[in-house]
Amino acid sequence: MRAYKSKVVSPIRLPDRDERESQLERAGYNVFNLDSDAVFVDLLTDSGTGTMSESQWAAMMSGDEAYAGSASFERLRESVADVMGFERILPAHQGRGAENVLYGALVEDGDYVPNNTHFDTTRAHIANNGGEPVDCPHDDALSGDREFAGDIDVEQVRALADEVGADRIPAVLLTLTNNSLAGQPVSVENVHEARKVADELDATFVVDACRFAENAYFVREREAEFADRSVAEVAREQLSYADALVMSGKKDGLVNVGGFVALRDDPALDDLHAKARERAILYEGFTTYGGMAGRDLEAMAVGLREAVEESYIADRVGQVQRLGDMLAERDVPVQRPTGGHAVYVNAAEFLPEIPAERFPGQALVCELYREGAVRGVELGSFAFPDTDRPELVRLSLPRRTYGADHLEHVAETFEKVAERRDAGEISGLEITDEPEMAELRHFSAELRPVREQETTTAD
Ligand SMILES: *Cc1c(COP(=O)(O)O)cnc(C)c1O
Repeated sequence: MRAYKSKVVSPIRLPDRDERESQLERAGYNVFNLDSDAVFVDLLTDSGTGTMSESQWAAMMSGDEAYAGSASFERLRESVADVMGFERILPAHQGRGAENVLYGALVEDGDYVPNNTHFDTTRAHIANNGGEPVDCPHDDALSGDREFAGDIDVEQVRALADEVGADRIPAVLLTLTNNSLAGQPVSVENVHEARKVADELDATFVVDACRFAENAYFVREREAEFADRSVAEVAREQLSYADALVMSGKKDGLVNVGGFVALRDDPALDDLHAKARERAILYEGFTTYGGMAGRDLEAMAVGLREAVEESYIADRVGQVQRLGDMLAERDVPVQRPTGGHAVYVNAAEFLPEIPAERFPGQALVCELYREGAVRGVELGSFAFPDTDRPELVRLSLPRRTYGADHLEHVAETFEKVAERRDAGEISGLEITDEPEMAELRHFSAELRPVREQETTTAD
């Protein structure tokens, strides 16, 4: 249950059917092109879309906008030390800025970087520095049998080292929770194992801590050893094995923008710290603000502390589970158990009549908007061309934003889509216009509905 009430109201509206149809058409059947004021329940992403608390808004008034030595930086530094246990931080404008700072200092041409699963921007920054990102999840990660499906398979990391040589692996990464693997959690035992492998390889151990609070909550619920601990204690424990952190404040920082690199105060990391500092100044800003306004540093300092409060995190993860349950009760095929920030729907199973080349995930995303002005995002063959990913649609819940009635609306919208499916009224889609970079296709490509009988064999 929510342990807060609303004080600031942000009106939303459900456009009528005609408007929804014309929005879809104008958007080229790509929901990134919709006007957000024509979206009723927006589950596009949980990144930077949450609601700040009165304490965060109050703290913003004390923002110290000094270029150097800002008191707001000091408050953020203290918060990171208390909540995450790291002494040195380099603020950045958001998570990918922090990735650029750290991975540019760590990764060189010809390197290999293992991770449980690389998030898109992480993959891109490793590759941009000449490295090869290598995903090492367990082969049966999404079988539904693992309590910690997000874990890294350390044997795959050892095998990679045998193949390419330990000296080609400058860092071992671990992403908590495993965003690209349905937001599944990682156990503290696995964090410990990853630390050991990093030591064997003489590699820096980096934790992507974007959803560290959600991960800590799952650990407390599922890992016997931690059943009696507070989420705040588990949060620190799981991070205590890392040399460095990358953080996006837009996730468990409970702010709309911001991020940072954190480094342990260990002489062995002094060189890395010096290199990262240089890059921070070059790309983000002076080391006491790094692309953030003083007021934004203040909001994140408070947000990090709120993220590990029991009442907040239980409600947060519980809401995601409830949405998953509500959809499963209506025979919607969802990934179980649900992760920390989103519900993933298998669109190929939900719309079996639509073949992969007609983008069943994108068809479902369009139907959710058409029937209920609900916005999700496709993460299947439309977003990731030339991979054999499952046809997933992700419904991410913004933090502290929607209530039970909104979840009910989403579930009812799925019922209406199912009715249209059963009546044979849902079409697949074809791309009419796409950008040059295939990796960026789902942000800007345009499509059109196509009835199977219209399709021709010749091009
Ligand atoms: C969001 C995210 C990032 C990048 O953060 P931005 O603030 O979006 O730049 C990196 N890693 C993970 C796991 C994320 O979820």
